[in-house]
Amino acid sequence: MAFNVTILGCSSALPTSKRNPTAQVLNVFERFFLIDCGEGTQIQLRKFKFKLSRINHIFISHLHGDHYFGLFGLLSSYALMGRKNDIHIYADAQIEEIINFVLKNIIDNVDFKVIVHELNNKSPEIIYEDSHITIKSFPLKHRINTCGFLFAEKPKTRNIKKEIISEYKLSIKDIISIKDGNDYISELNEIIPNSHLTIAAPAPLSYAYCSDTMFKEENASYFPNVNLLFHESTFLDIHADRANDTYHSTAKQAAQTAKIANANKLILGHYSARYKDLTPILEEAQEIFQNTVLGLDGLTVEIE
Ligand SMILES: [Zn+2]
Ligand SMILES: [Zn+2]
Repeated sequence: MAFNVTILGCSSALPTSKRNPTAQVLNVFERFFLIDCGEGTQIQLRKFKFKLSRINHIFISHLHGDHYFGLFGLLSSYALMGRKNDIHIYADAQIEEIINFVLKNIIDNVDFKVIVHELNNKSPEIIYEDSHITIKSFPLKHRINTCGFLFAEKPKTRNIKKEIISEYKLSIKDIISIKDGNDYISELNEIIPNSHLTIAAPAPLSYAYCSDTMFKEENASYFPNVNLLFHESTFLDIHADRANDTYHSTAKQAAQTAKIANANKLILGHYSARYKDLTPILEEAQEIFQNTVLGLDGLTVEIE
């Protein structure tokens, strides 16, 4: 069962021939979540073999065009494809007016509902939950209201030891009770503690998404010990002034955030078009945080 993220676009505001604007797909055990939706996202989804119809939840970090101009093309295609299922969009409240205008005046024959969930830009908040994961938004520091997202697997119940089932000739009812955390009373009236019957499940996994933001130490507090962190690295440290003026981060700052958060792995992205060769961006981050990879269009990274 896969838990991974695929980068659909790794560019910042000005796309290049090789780098699309920001978008990612998170596969959580065959549930697909779209994170940001820059121009061309639906084409990238097709190119990397994702089914458009499998996406029901879209998370938009903020309303700069490079993070949501692809939404209208995608909604238009859904109308042409005869989509009936609701689509949930998590974004700044202002998006509702924009979407309503587009649905009313530009796209014909919309047979599905677009449900907007307003993001809170002040404090972390749970915005989605199902049996497998919890999704939280958290505030970032950018020129306009911007949120990051933390996708965290829920703790799993302990696993029953296989040999115990035959040893005590356990019934289905017993197995369910033990998996619920109860002790077992044997035929000889002995109490067998749950810890003897079960083993701990693997630790829950998590993925954090940070784009766009200037460096702020507090950011790391929203995703302590995260397994995989995506962090924007629009600029190199030599352009730190430009990063500061535009409320973006350098590769060095992305790495510092990963280090403070005690992340296991870092993916970089949202590169300025001024950098043709991205090697210096990777090297700058790796000096501080070794387990770093360059996010490039089409790259899939496992969360582990
Ligand atoms: Zn951006
Ligand atoms: Zn932005």
